[in-house]
Amino acid sequence: MTRPKNIAVKDGVLQNKKSELEKIIVANEKEEKHFQVMAAEARTQVEPRLLASYEKIRTNYRNGLAVVPVERDACGGCFNAIPPQKQSEIKQHKKIMICENCGRILVDDSLHSSVELK
Ligand SMILES: [Zn+2]
Repeated sequence: MTRPKNIAVKDGVLQNKKSELEKIIVANEKEEKHFQVMAAEARTQVEPRLLASYEKIRTNYRNGLAVVPVERDACGGCFNAIPPQKQSEIKQHKKIMICENCGRILVDDSLHSSVELK
């Protein structure tokens, strides 16, 4: 294959990838709008004090997660170990528990997996 032909082939591949990417971006924008509406609704149901700390965590942490599950006896956000006493309090769902290390809100695995992303 001569060199210019090779470039033409690669160019074709690139164009295909670009149009695929365009489609993905459009689909994600729709999804994002859907979740933004859901989030706005949910915000009206939350105590302002909690909402403020939630928003603060969301913007301060790299992965943007403010609510994380306890995974393998550790915080799902920073992997700091969670003592058994605290884990059982988390499972009771009586009050909102936060990670002492990173401040993220901790939930047990059953609660975390009961909320499905669609
Ligand atoms: Zn943590």
